[in-house]
Order: sequence, then structure tokens, then C-alpha cells
Amino acid sequence: KIEFRHVSKRFGAVEVIPDMDLVIEDGEFAALLGPSGCGKSTSLFMLAGIYLPSGGELLFDGHLVNEVEARDRNVGIVFQSYALYPHMSVRDNILFPLRFKKTPRDEALARVKAAADLVRVTELLDRRPSELSGGQQQRVALARALVKKPQLLLLDEPLSNLDASLRLSMRTEIKSLHEQLGVTTVLVTHDQIEATTMADRIICMRAGRIEQVGTPDDLYLRPSSLFVAGFIGSPP
Ligand code: ATP
Ligand code: MG
Repeated sequence: KIEFRHVSKRFGAVEVIPDMDLVIEDGEFAALLGPSGCGKSTSLFMLAGIYLPSGGELLFDGHLVNEVEARDRNVGIVFQSYALYPHMSVRDNILFPLRFKKTPRDEALARVKAAADLVRVTELLDRRPSELSGGQQQRVALARALVKKPQLLLLDEPLSNLDASLRLSMRTEIKSLHEQLGVTTVLVTHDQIEATTMADRIICMRAGRIEQVGTPDDLYLRPSSLFVAGFIGSPP
């Protein structure tokens, strides 16, 4: 279980997230939805430990993680740009998150194989990222996020670089991956269709604040504001 309790984030004098309260339950698929610049990635990066909160409390299973760095959190993340290491093979890219763990080499490679099988990139392990299509790079990024068997999977606009038909099939694939693994998943998107088709619960954000939290139906049929209605495309 993940809890934001009055979490804030400042960059210099600018308060990007003033006061965030949110609970994400185990096994849930949650989507952070909102327009560009509303603080979705900032919130996700705090979950990842890439940004540390400026105030408030962030709890994983009741434990305060405000000061816990990314490598010490059991979290996998897929970045919008995938951020694969160009000079490394696909195998080494997927292996990378295990570098701080004292996993024996054999076991680490078995984990890489398992993660690669899961997203069907086993045939690509010896290639470089530059030799892959966008969709293949996206799968490799997913495998890298899953190799640690994270308790939390974070996806920052993972489908935005894909063409329309691939985006559609990857939606289904990520959904079934979530069902198969049962890993708590937080998806960041500004695409309301992506959020409504993939998530159990949507957290609709606006200018650093949460406007509404609910199921896709809640937001669509019972939007709490004109902003939510407009963003989600509710009937007038
Ligand atoms: P997008 O959909 O465009 O990715 P977002 O909802 O993910 O937007 P964030 O990246 O969280 O938005 O940014 C929220 C605000 O915080 C923006 O105004 C941005 O300029 C600011 N911000 C984000 N990261 C930093 C940083 N490292 N330093 C200073 N300001 C930042
Ligand atoms: Mg972002």
C-alpha cells in the first residue's frame, strides 16, 4: 500500500505539488491523468525515489520512504523516452537494475531471460537499442523495469512514441501483464482513453493538485468539476 500524506515538492521557489494526499492499494492499476505540466511525472518520480519529497510523508506499506533513494526502493520504471543505454546490449540494459544487488551472475542472467520472455524480446538480447524498432525498445524498457520483480511498476507515458495500432496492442499487453503479475502499477498519461481503458482507478490532476479520484465510470458519469468533465470528455 502506498500513501501520500500531505506530500509537497518544490523546485527552488516554485511549489509544483503543494499538498498531495493519495492512497494506492496493493495490486491496483492506477492512472495519473492530467494536462501537460500538472505534476504527473513529478509525482511518479517521487514514487520512484528519483525526486525526494520537500514535505509531508510518503509511505510504502506503512514505512516512511521520503529519504530512500531509487536504488533502495523495490520499484521498476519505464520512462517516456525509454532511456535505454545506447552503448549496451539489450541483455546488459535489462541486467542494469540488478547491478547494486549481490545477485549471482547465473541467477541474474536467468532473471534477464525470464523478463525478456515475458515481453517477448528473447531473440533481441544481443542487439543494441539503436537496432530496434520503437515498439521493441518499449518492450526492452518494460523488461528492464520488471527484472527486479518490483513491488511497484511505474510507467511514464510509455506508449506515446508508438504508432496508433501498436499503441492499441500494447495497451492490451500491459493490461494482461498487470493481471498476470499482479504488480501494483501507476501509469502516467495525458490520454483519457488510455487512462479509462487501462486503469482501475484514475487520479485526475490539475496544476499540482488532485481534482478527482475514482473509477473510469465515476469520472466519466459523475465528474466533480467542469475541468474533469472536459478533460475526460463526459457528455454535457
Ligand atoms: P507532461 O505531460 O508535459 O510530461 P507533467 O504533468 O509530467 O507534464 P511535470 O514534469 O511533473 O509535469 O512538471 C510539473 C511542473 O514542474 C512543470 O511546471 C515543470 O516545469 C516543473 N518541473 C518538473 N521537474 C522540474 C525540475 N527538475 N526543476 C524545475 N522544475 C521542474
Ligand atoms: Mg511528464
